Amino acid sequence: MRPLVFAANWKMNLGPAEARDYLATFLKAYSPQPNRQVWFFPPAVSLEAVATGLGNRADLLAGVQDVYWEPKGAFTGATSAPLAAQAGAKAALIGHSERRHVFGETDEQTGRKLAAVLEAKLHPVLCVGETLEQRDAGRTLEVVTRQLETALSGGGGARAATARVTIAYEPVWAIGTGRNATPHDAATVHAAIRAWLEQHEATETRILYGGSVNLKNAADLLAEPELDGVLVGGASLDPTGWGELVRTAAV
Ligand code: PEP
Repeated sequence: MRPLVFAANWKMNLGPAEARDYLATFLKAYSPQPNRQVWFFPPAVSLEAVATGLGNRADLLAGVQDVYWEPKGAFTGATSAPLAAQAGAKAALIGHSERRHVFGETDEQTGRKLAAVLEAKLHPVLCVGETLEQRDAGRTLEVVTRQLETALSGGGGARAATARVTIAYEPVWAIGTGRNATPHDAATVHAAIRAWLEQHEATETRILYGGSVNLKNAADLLAEPELDGVLVGGASLDPTGWGELVRTAAV
């Protein structure tokens, strides 16, 4: 079986006490499975509770949902990559569609954040994906390629950065909507991303799929060898269901 990543994006849910309760249930229900890693992205206020709660299990890690590119200073409300690392983060989501489309983050800002994450020695999960309008206009690959190029060129040279990221392909129209790409649609875009990565000498980069993944559709999606895992929002919020999804979604 190939190694798979199951990444849980809690978005703005589960404060520290709720996170501790969640982990108590999850850890009871989920014992390490071969070739699976489970990555948790809680809100920043719960990061330390989650990182501590996961203990030393090699198959689990905690990450931050977003960072600002400066390491510290007068940036009220922001979290930097070094501060997230102090709270126990080992990874960071970068360029999530809600950062891009709700908060207006540009490709260039995503690139600066990605460079800061690499500098802090966290593992970046770079999210890319097209809107419905872009998809309907046949622009999916153009948009995704532009997002990859702009974000990765800020990371100390595209080649160096490219080899050190995980990519999450998340079509914007599929996030939190209940609509998801078919396994074939997802695999087609993953193959194009992989070809772009290979042109930049990154042959080991993992590509996750995200967008309304749940217990019912995860196994079909992961049956596509192009998918190296999933990034899951809503369906990761219930610890029992999430444990079951991770356990059963791949054979
Ligand atoms: C996400 O937050 O990255 C996501 C894919 O959300 P959902 O699974 O709820 O669509």
